[in-house]
Amino acid sequence: MTRNTGAAVYVAGHNGMVGSAIVRRLTSLGYVNIVTASHSELDLVDQRAVRAFFEANRIDQVYLAAAKVGGIEANNSSPADFIYDNLLIEANIIKSSHDFGVPRLLFLGSSCIYPRLADQPIREEALMTGALESTNEPYAVAKIAGIKLCESFNRQYGRDYRSVMPTNLYGPGDNYHPVNSHVIPGLLRRFHEAAANGLDEVVIWGSGTPKREFMHVDDLAAAAAHVMELERSDYCAKTQPMLSHVNVGTGVECSIAELAGLVASVTGFTGRLTFDSTKPDGTPRKLLDVSRLRSLGWQSTISLEDGLSDAYHWFLVHQGDFRG
Ligand code: GDP
Repeated sequence: MTRNTGAAVYVAGHNGMVGSAIVRRLTSLGYVNIVTASHSELDLVDQRAVRAFFEANRIDQVYLAAAKVGGIEANNSSPADFIYDNLLIEANIIKSSHDFGVPRLLFLGSSCIYPRLADQPIREEALMTGALESTNEPYAVAKIAGIKLCESFNRQYGRDYRSVMPTNLYGPGDNYHPVNSHVIPGLLRRFHEAAANGLDEVVIWGSGTPKREFMHVDDLAAAAAHVMELERSDYCAKTQPMLSHVNVGTGVECSIAELAGLVASVTGFTGRLTFDSTKPDGTPRKLLDVSRLRSLGWQSTISLEDGLSDAYHWFLVHQGDFRG
């Protein structure tokens, strides 16, 4: 393990759910030189601005946690924004990192990079072996491009640019928009409002049968720092042939109907659950094989029950700030 707490570490996307969790984790590990730039200071889609930022700041490591993200509905309705913004953010940061001599970078992808009908649990080797889920294909293609950018700079220039592929994430700082959010914040908000307003029914999108693996973002942040701090030889030994990617998950899955039951109990809702089959289900199952990560010495610790309570607590404190 290499931990240089004085290194200048740029966390791209530090105001987002993932980036802010990484900043919290690095701070608790003792890192004292964390570099950040808010969206209004630096537009990551703007190549010139990104190059100028890297030119002006000494950076030793990059966590690439900046991305345009959203749930099934947002991905489905704004495909152009999801592919374009993400391709440019990744390309700009990875190329500038290389050009300005940043030795190490960690790219954060997503489990939706894998084929829709991949064998479960999904191994890293399943990448590019089949057709993607259509509801988020443009986002997934951008994330696959990010992995391939890292691999290619490693291959051609000997860089040490690593990638982690997290499963479905939730936690403090999540997006609670009623339409564009992911399922956990979407349901926490809907169940909370139903309980608060004395409603006797909550509608769940889709059939309730799809299965997902959910991870609290603090677990992901711990895994990300762990992978970043690995010796290059240890990382390479597990990610051959060419310094590729590592799945990050809990190894535990649950159906959307089961999740809805947990959210009902966390929020105190006691009424009926109904399912709206006019909404898309998305991919039927998405459980990551996390043996590569375990062999690198890391395992998740936050249960879904504890994680949901934590996310709900954050929601209760911050709900007054939401605009949507
Ligand atoms: P996905 O993993 O990319 O499909 O991301 P989502 O978190 O958006 O959706 C996961 C699953 O939850 C899908 O089967 C959705 O149809 C289902 N779902 C049920 N209710 C909701 C909701 O209120 N919001 C969202 N985003 N998904 C929901």
